[in-house]
Amino acid sequence: MRKKCKIRFVEDFLSRSIDVRELHYARLLGEHPVSIPSPHHPWLSSLETDRISVRIRFTPDSEWVYVPLRWIRSALRQGRQMNWDRWRPYFVCPFCRRRAEKLYAGKDFVACRKCGGLRYVSQTLGSNAKRHRQALKIRLRLGGKPVIADPFPKCPEGMQKRVYARMKARAEQYELPLRVGRYRKYWAWRRPGYPVLIKIPRI
Ligand SMILES: [Zn+2]
Repeated sequence: MRKKCKIRFVEDFLSRSIDVRELHYARLLGEHPVSIPSPHHPWLSSLETDRISVRIRFTPDSEWVYVPLRWIRSALRQGRQMNWDRWRPYFVCPFCRRRAEKLYAGKDFVACRKCGGLRYVSQTLGSNAKRHRQALKIRLRLGGKPVIADPFPKCPEGMQKRVYARMKARAEQYELPLRVGRYRKYWAWRRPGYPVLIKIPRI
């Protein structure tokens, strides 16, 4: 019998992750060490950064976790244009020593996605389940419920009709193969057993 184990999703760990690009863009990876009373990382007690490493403490009296940085010269996409020859920082994963842009935190360690045993939701779904998830994302974004059998949500206030029409058309395209065939009732009433993230526009 196949051993059943619970899959841990990256999407569940987003609030417990550090992003090297965020630190870089905030100009925290400079010559002089900076210690940050990090509001972005409420799960950390302290965070110290400089050009060669990032130091993390989970509780005020625990040991420092040392994460080295590696700088690589490569192309960086900034908005529309590519900037060639930029130095970009990466974390070095403490377990596998490969480079990583994001590290995810366990109880008292940080690891890259592979060492942490995390998978993206999209890696675990089949083609129909992916369509289902995309359709639900659009419905949630428009203020609807995450069930396909529900009537399609109306245009929210403040959204352009053009944008709404485009989103509705896209959702219908995703839902079409789920509405026909043998499993149409299953898909109609299925609720997702995984986190559905929606992009909320920044104001
Ligand atoms: Zn690793």
